[in-house]
Amino acid sequence: MPRRRPDPPPPFCPNPRCASHKDPGTWRYKKKGFFSRTRGPRRVQRYLCQRCGRNFSTQTFSPTYWLKRPDLLRRVFWGSLSCSGLRQMAREAGVSHLTVQRLLERLGRHCLLLHEALRPPGAPTEALVLDGFRTFEAGQYWPFDLNLLVGESHFVYGFNDAELRRSGTHTERQRAKRAQLEAAYGRPNPKATRRAVEELVGRVVPEGASAEIRSDEHRAYPLAFRRLAGRRIRHLTTSSKASRTASNPLFPVNLADLLLRHGSANHKRETIAFSKRRQGALYRAAIWMVWRNYVKPRSERRQDAPPGVEIGVVNARLTLSEVLGRRLFPWRASLSGWLERCYFGRIPTRAMARMRRHSPAYAV
Ligand SMILES: [Zn+2]
Repeated sequence: MPRRRPDPPPPFCPNPRCASHKDPGTWRYKKKGFFSRTRGPRRVQRYLCQRCGRNFSTQTFSPTYWLKRPDLLRRVFWGSLSCSGLRQMAREAGVSHLTVQRLLERLGRHCLLLHEALRPPGAPTEALVLDGFRTFEAGQYWPFDLNLLVGESHFVYGFNDAELRRSGTHTERQRAKRAQLEAAYGRPNPKATRRAVEELVGRVVPEGASAEIRSDEHRAYPLAFRRLAGRRIRHLTTSSKASRTASNPLFPVNLADLLLRHGSANHKRETIAFSKRRQGALYRAAIWMVWRNYVKPRSERRQDAPPGVEIGVVNARLTLSEVLGRRLFPWRASLSGWLERCYFGRIPTRAMARMRRHSPAYAV
């Protein structure tokens, strides 16, 4: 029988309230036997933190901690990128659609943290392209924009959301229904796009830095840029009516929109797999962003390196095993603002009175 590889030592205490969580400098722990599982790894080393007394194991540091079906994490990752709805993935795996939903949420949280750990820490050194990817949640009366900030290299620097009021031509009946829904749930904030773009660009372009940002002629964008103190932003606009070819200055974001719609069941036109909550769409977008930046070749035909290699944040394309190599802990990443709200599932859906938030004690 081949000898089992020894487990790597635990890197820090997984208890966020323990001083050895963020700063494991003089951390002491001891081994505390094993437990066995029906799925691999079958024999798991247990430990005890000698500072806070928390029990944990090697599994605590794996993205598959506490999963009865660890194999599903990989399947759901690929399924979410290949136009599968939750129930389609569930049927194939023989589990409940709620299991798939929870796995998508776990993957989304993981991918948000992985991207924050990998993206360039300073200002981007290339021109950026900004756009709002239009989709909807809970029904066609509740549209929202996924604001995407993409580099010329096609690297997706970040995204966030802005709810919108349903616009366009309405029939009498549709107008009455919209009025009735808005009376019951309130109207989306008309400043949502300006605020969201301010947050997104402020997150990607640090104070004191400068950036060139290209976009369409959306009126909220210049208002957002003006409010970003301490950043020099050169804003270039292109009409959204210009043909969407590779020579269009907005090509990187147009292509990102196309790929996002091409691979995601929730963003297809006239679909019944639409996002029931904006939060779910954001988790799926985080998975898509990690795949696009670090896994997918820039060109499928040439099978070249992904954008993350092009801008030098990773040496080679990541395999899914590398993406899911180790569990990431939110308290070590110092999340704040929109990222923190999104990570913990606090992005509200207006048309829903009660929402599930992510607040378990250990499984973060
Ligand atoms: Zn501890």
